[in-house]
Amino acid sequence: MPNGGQIKRLPIIHIGFDDIDSPRGGCTTHFVAELLVKWIKNRGINLIDYPNLVRLNPGVPWKTRGNGALVLRLDVRDEDMAEDLFEEAIVEAEKYVSKYKHPESQPSLAMFIGEIPGILEFFAGKAVNDIVPITFLERIIDKIKPRVKTSILSKGKRGLVGSLAGIGYRMLNTDYTFELIAYRSPEYYGRERLVDPESVKIMDKETKPHTILNFDYEIDKPLIIPHGPDPVLYGIRGEDPDVLVRAKGFVKTEEPVTLEVIFRTNQHTDAHLRETVVRKAFPYRGVIVRGIVSRKPSRIMGGHVIFSIRDDTGEIDVAAYEPTGSLRNIVEKLLPGDEVVVYGVVRPPGPRHGATINLEKIRVVAVKPQIVVENPICPRCGKRMKSMGRGKGFKCPRCGYRDPNARKITRYLPRDLEPGFYEPPPRSFKHLMKPIQRFGREKKYFPAVYSPRRFIWVNGNLLR
Ligand code: ZN
Repeated sequence: MPNGGQIKRLPIIHIGFDDIDSPRGGCTTHFVAELLVKWIKNRGINLIDYPNLVRLNPGVPWKTRGNGALVLRLDVRDEDMAEDLFEEAIVEAEKYVSKYKHPESQPSLAMFIGEIPGILEFFAGKAVNDIVPITFLERIIDKIKPRVKTSILSKGKRGLVGSLAGIGYRMLNTDYTFELIAYRSPEYYGRERLVDPESVKIMDKETKPHTILNFDYEIDKPLIIPHGPDPVLYGIRGEDPDVLVRAKGFVKTEEPVTLEVIFRTNQHTDAHLRETVVRKAFPYRGVIVRGIVSRKPSRIMGGHVIFSIRDDTGEIDVAAYEPTGSLRNIVEKLLPGDEVVVYGVVRPPGPRHGATINLEKIRVVAVKPQIVVENPICPRCGKRMKSMGRGKGFKCPRCGYRDPNARKITRYLPRDLEPGFYEPPPRSFKHLMKPIQRFGREKKYFPAVYSPRRFIWVNGNLLR
């Protein structure tokens, strides 16, 4: 068989990083961005995708700080080069972590050689939407052993969930967005971030709805600027790389920006939620459940609003917690009989409550007309009449007027709630939560091999 026309494909590798940071500083995205600069400059590596930032299930109790894994996907000459890169990544990660050593961080790295097998994709989906038992992690590693290398920089295998799940979460046929992250110069770490809030407002107005959650007008604060000691100056999230490049042109800073990188990510895609029924809304799962309101919402201590829904399989509590702000005012208008779809992660039962869906978003499908049945009003004096017994008519308690033919009156109360989607204010969005503005903008395709261009800048100069 002649094969002269075939182009020999280079081996593809995927390197995943998780928790290369700590509450004291550092940031996995920053570590990977710096490593990327080094590898592009010194080794001329070829990425086959933008660097990926994969957020995992925010409901798991042992999540890492940012709860996101970073992945570099690239082609290599041969397996020796793969080994080489992985070794270098480990050495660099050790150096980086030692600057910010923290007892609770569980830094880990993993490398996978070749196309992602279905089983690893399945594992990744579970890590985004559900919990992964450590035994399942062990089984996965066992199955893919010859093609995977792992490294844990501290005790605890659990750290590997992030780096392996990131690798498996390929985002070729699932929705995705992009984030441009700008990094600070080290002498500014820990100091107030010098980003002009007015310029962020202008950027927001010029680029939305193609950028996501830049500014919260309710509290008049930019949302692109993090707090804390990490090296991130700001991060702009959006639908495509071009709009992010345009957006950063509007943002004015009074401190140097040393590095900017565009990541492809599952942020704001609701990747952590799956449609299911009440009976299968198990603790820690991200769910979308359709049901009928079965208990009137009530506001409890702390300002949380709790109600219940039921479907054919059972009944479950739903809570709009205090941080969801104005969403609680909508939820409070629900009445038993209303049909809703609730979005959120299931909180496990506690001593005082059952399993509860932590509400992130709600769709009011139908509001039930509210009917009140009342006694008739006395036509003589205007007082509400009293029944004289079943089928015997009504009598006025004030003037004594009797009407044996009077009937109860049915009245429709106006409902101050329209069917539709409702979401919390921008500031209470978490990484994965999809804002309503993204509905209809979902992407379903990304090429398996793609050479990103215009995605990394050093001191303002395009590196690639
Ligand atoms: Zn009367």
